Amino acid sequence: MNNLRELYQQVILDHNKSPRNYGKINNADSFAHGSNPLCGDTIDVYLKIKNGIIEDLMFEGEGCAICTSSASMMTEALKGKTEKEAEDLFTLFHSVLTEDEEKDLKSLGKLAVLTGVKDYPVRVKCATLAWHTFHAALKRLDGQISTE
Ligand code: ZN
Repeated sequence: MNNLRELYQQVILDHNKSPRNYGKINNADSFAHGSNPLCGDTIDVYLKIKNGIIEDLMFEGEGCAICTSSASMMTEALKGKTEKEAEDLFTLFHSVLTEDEEKDLKSLGKLAVLTGVKDYPVRVKCATLAWHTFHAALKRLDGQISTE
């Protein structure tokens, strides 16, 4: 169990140190800004959609390690997915982190490493911020969202 925890930590630290898909998409189809005042995380998510598929997805922001690594892993997980698949993954990830019921973690793939934050309820909002922001961008709710 300790080894697993160490692996989780390594993955999170690695994504925090070198976030994937970090930056801005200049001709993005949609964009949303999210903030988590509880921790001070802020994030911008940019989306490019073509024929219902997430062609490109990038993020920028100032966040803690959990927030940044969750955003980084999210971009990797969602790129190339259809809007429907992305929506389903958002729903699954969110319910795994916020509901007590046991869920099948297999379909989360690498994202499963983030479920460790369940032990630290304050951190759950850090882990879900990027996803809420992505979801807002997907729904074309151009504008501000907040976890509060
Ligand atoms: Zn945070």
